[in-house]
Amino acid sequence: MSIKKNLQNIIKNIPENVRLVAVSKTMPNDLINEVYDAGQRIFGENKAQELIAKQPELPDNIKWHFIGHLQTNKVKYIAPFVSMIESVDRLKLLKEINKQAKKNERTIDCLLQFHIAEEDSKFGFNKEEAVEMIESEAFSLLNNVRITGVMGMATFTEDMDQVRKEFKTLKELFKFFKENYFSDFTDFKEVSMGMSADYNIAIEEGSTNVRIGTAIFGERKKKF
Ligand SMILES: *Cc1c(COP(=O)(O)O)cnc(C)c1O
Repeated sequence: MSIKKNLQNIIKNIPENVRLVAVSKTMPNDLINEVYDAGQRIFGENKAQELIAKQPELPDNIKWHFIGHLQTNKVKYIAPFVSMIESVDRLKLLKEINKQAKKNERTIDCLLQFHIAEEDSKFGFNKEEAVEMIESEAFSLLNNVRITGVMGMATFTEDMDQVRKEFKTLKELFKFFKENYFSDFTDFKEVSMGMSADYNIAIEEGSTNVRIGTAIFGERKKKF
């Protein structure tokens, strides 16, 4: 099937209020342009260096979501243009995003990434760590970041009951933080979960933002 058909099938499959991030990591610009020409405007990358290389070569009105582990010293390179950083997993990173956003006279939307999978390899806060950060004075001083919700990755498994359980956990975390810390803040509304293999389940469990690579572009050559 063509990339365009893949995209159209996915768009047909997801409700209008769920945002689609086309995950273009490892994909060359000509394929990204194909997806762009089919109407897609939001793309996701997980490596700063790769994003920095691609961004100037691609249309200006692409909204770039950063979805990978982000080193503090790379924030300055993506801060001028990134639309959302979905993978905030520590206060130090959030402080640096705030600093670089300020330098660029902008506010950057951020999601708090939670560790919901069984694997140790995935990054993210647990509930207590996020509470500690949000209650800190340092957090209250960050005026150039906007926390718009939560993000998580399920365990890499065929066991869809397990995956569903983890998505439920993320939705519960969202509700907890919404009720206890962001109840007056209407922008806190995103639950980013769901990839090619599990986005239907994620949507059933309340996803507002799915991140889909393989089901649009086909298999990646390298495993990430
Ligand atoms: C690669 C990646 C995706 C997309 O994965 P697919 O299985 O190709 O859809 C989604 N989220 C993150 C954080 C990723 O790194």
